[in-house]
Amino acid sequence: MRHRIAVVGSGPAGLTFARVMHRHGYPVAVLERDPAPDARPPGGTLDLHEGMGQLALHKAGLLTEFQALSRPEGQAMRILDTDGTVLRDWRPRPDDRANPEIDRGQLRDLLLGPLDVQWGRSVTQVVPGTREGVAVHFADGRQETFDLVVGADGAWSRTRPAVSSVTPHYTGVTYVETSLDDVDTRHPGLARLIGDGSVAVYGVNRGLVAQRNSGGHVKVYAQFRAPLDWHTDLDPADVEAVRSSLLALFDGWAAPVLDLLRHGTAFVHRPLYVLPVSHTWTHVPGVTLLGDAAHLMPPLGAGANLAMLEGAELAESIATCRGDLDEAVRAFEEQMWARAGRWAKITTAGLERLVSPDPADALALFDRVQPS
Ligand SMILES: Cc1cc2nc3c(=O)[nH]c(=O)nc-3n(C[C@H](O)[C@H](O)[C@H](O)COP(=O)(O)OP(=O)(O)OC[C@H]3O[C@@H](n4cnc5c(N)ncnc54)[C@H](O)[C@@H]3O)c2cc1C
Repeated sequence: MRHRIAVVGSGPAGLTFARVMHRHGYPVAVLERDPAPDARPPGGTLDLHEGMGQLALHKAGLLTEFQALSRPEGQAMRILDTDGTVLRDWRPRPDDRANPEIDRGQLRDLLLGPLDVQWGRSVTQVVPGTREGVAVHFADGRQETFDLVVGADGAWSRTRPAVSSVTPHYTGVTYVETSLDDVDTRHPGLARLIGDGSVAVYGVNRGLVAQRNSGGHVKVYAQFRAPLDWHTDLDPADVEAVRSSLLALFDGWAAPVLDLLRHGTAFVHRPLYVLPVSHTWTHVPGVTLLGDAAHLMPPLGAGANLAMLEGAELAESIATCRGDLDEAVRAFEEQMWARAGRWAKITTAGLERLVSPDPADALALFDRVQPS
């Protein structure tokens, strides 16, 4: 008998899960709140690691297509002092495919392929243990039941309360994101500063990171320690007011570095929330979680990779389970919790060192993780 399976969310976790299930011939209902794939900006660039995101794409049969789209040169990383001095300048070897970058929108389209996502289906609640199965309630008042509901609905998951009462908490670090377009023609000086990949500058309790996306688009992240209400006197829609407040925060930094903020277009406020390290739950038949819904952690290059690998692994576990769906999910959860717990520790410690009172600590962290 075919199981009725739904995944809530069409981010990296949900789409990878559905795509690997599709490859094994299993249909999955993909329930996504956004009304269309392009309803909101897809976000910045992601580096997909060989043993994680790329392994997931291999399991989905999409590695060759990924290699054609991705940017190995985007692995380049430059670190500057706040006065603009270049402290480190790492460039990948021509054959280095360990962590190539891909735009989130390109990754989404690659994963979407033949999948028939149900757009505009905002889930409000997931209720396990009803007579017909696991009930999924939608914002429009409708309800459907499934044998398995996979919550891949991100940080503020509506599926999570079905298995865990834990909610995300603020890390004390906020990102404010801005972007530059056509950087090579409109801001050639900044294009040279950023290079093919990323440039990062660390000061006391703050940092500025710029990452090249495809097509001359650059995402800039101002990162700093602040209380959650640091911006209460600011109108977030007042671009010039936000810019001035950020320029004041980074006062004294080299002019070319501050140009990353001076030329930024809109500003998006992203306070960093996390779930507790090693978040687990007592297994609930018929419901599980993937990705940020399960283990939201600081954005240090692991979240999307874990989300994709978990999606692929859960799909393979189900596809090869010979009928015992619950056993397949249990086995998957044990594996996910152990690995995600390790990464949550690494990224939590990493954030403490990157946005820290001692900028030398950030440099030491890069010296440890960057290939020489
Ligand atoms: C600034 C920044 C930079 C990052 N850089 C990297 C990086 O370089 N590498 C890396 O590996 N990770 C990175 N991450 C982390 C990464 O973005 C996340 O870990 C990853 O997106 C998690 O994927 P997901 O599918 O679990 O959740 P999401 O990407 O959040 O997707 C969740 C989906 O669920 C949908 N949804 C939400 N609620 C509902 C609902 N109620 N009903 C239906 N649908 C719903 C959402 O619309 C969305 O489509 C970064 C994060 C940030 C903030």
